[in-house]
Amino acid sequence: MSVHNATFSGLGLLAPLTRQLAALGYDAPRGVQLAAIPAMLQGQDVKVQANTGSGKTAAFALPLLQRLMMIPPSARGRFVRTLVLVPSRELAMQVGESIRQYCAQISPAPSVLTVYGGVSVNPQMMALRGGADVLVATPGRLLDLLGKNALKLDRLETLVLDEADKLLSLGFADELSQLFARLPKNRQTALFSATFGDEVTALAGKVLRQPLDITMTAETDKADICQRVIEVAAERKTQLLIQLIKQNQWPQLLVFANAKQSCNRLQQKLQRAGINTQVFHGDKSQGNRGAVLNDFKQGKLQILIATDIAARGLDIDKLPAVVNYELPRSPADYIHRIGRTGRAGESGLAVSLICPDEFHHFRVIEKKHKLRLPREQVCGFELPAQQPDVSQDKNPQSKGR
Ligand code: AMP
Repeated sequence: MSVHNATFSGLGLLAPLTRQLAALGYDAPRGVQLAAIPAMLQGQDVKVQANTGSGKTAAFALPLLQRLMMIPPSARGRFVRTLVLVPSRELAMQVGESIRQYCAQISPAPSVLTVYGGVSVNPQMMALRGGADVLVATPGRLLDLLGKNALKLDRLETLVLDEADKLLSLGFADELSQLFARLPKNRQTALFSATFGDEVTALAGKVLRQPLDITMTAETDKADICQRVIEVAAERKTQLLIQLIKQNQWPQLLVFANAKQSCNRLQQKLQRAGINTQVFHGDKSQGNRGAVLNDFKQGKLQILIATDIAARGLDIDKLPAVVNYELPRSPADYIHRIGRTGRAGESGLAVSLICPDEFHHFRVIEKKHKLRLPREQVCGFELPAQQPDVSQDKNPQSKGR
């Protein structure tokens, strides 16, 4: 089948799903969906390297919903059939919501439940009493619920590990091992990860059986992100950011900083310059994070300052630009951060503001991702003569832009 005339029904999906996809405006399958859906419909394990924003939620959700449609409602029981493990509560909510959308025309509707920490456990225990066709969960809360005998996983049919690299980097390895020990061996498993370092590869080797290996390269992944790197003295970064915001008038902007404190300080400085922002980080309550994210998603909030908890998975429509006010420690997170822009075929802009202390680290990031980006300096924010990153080829034309 050619990529150009591929359709969702051509991939083997049935009318209740394809009608709903049309209603959602999904005209044609994306690369990751083309690759993963037929294999998953056959019950095969898959190991997928794909960025957030590539359409991977539908890639795993559609086949598992179709397999549920084949099961007579009388066979539904008080157990969990399909488990989707995700690293954060925001992602749990988002993935749960997407799956519910894809189900809208299936009758009887599958039960899709979402559980995560940071909120009271009792309503989740009540909801789980009748079992779940699909359970979307963060690992810690899932273990709590298992400890309280709130659910049964012994008849699980499909396991999805979403953002496996993030699950591991957040320190969930122990929780995952405890969980795997309680799952039936005979099941289908799909593992999605943006990066495949040693740990993720080892995990994949442990949980997958003869998986189909799918790698979405930049070419197949269609993201069109322009990356700019601006050299600036550390103490002038905020001023430069203010100037960029005022000059570019981005309809929306996501700014990344590394720590809660630096988000808060930056917010205060921007506020003093008359720029309204909100912050999104782990110190904020669940309610506050939800409200801020909603405002941002609906376009009511123009500028959001966030730590890396916003870098993964959050799907914000057509974000035109992200700024790295500080560089992420992990090179993988650089890709996750810039992946918030240029989503789903749109073009986007990612600007990194780097001070001399970060020059070396940015080269590490470039090397890791086989990038070589021209360095710019902005008029009025030039570094003193001895400071520019001399190890880089300079692109004189970009100077002063
Ligand atoms: P995801 O990577 O699953 O977070 O999806 C990224 C965005 O792409 C979401 O807003 C989806 O609704 C959207 N999307 C996924 N697949 C398609 C498709 N085939 N056509 C149009 N939009 C899609």
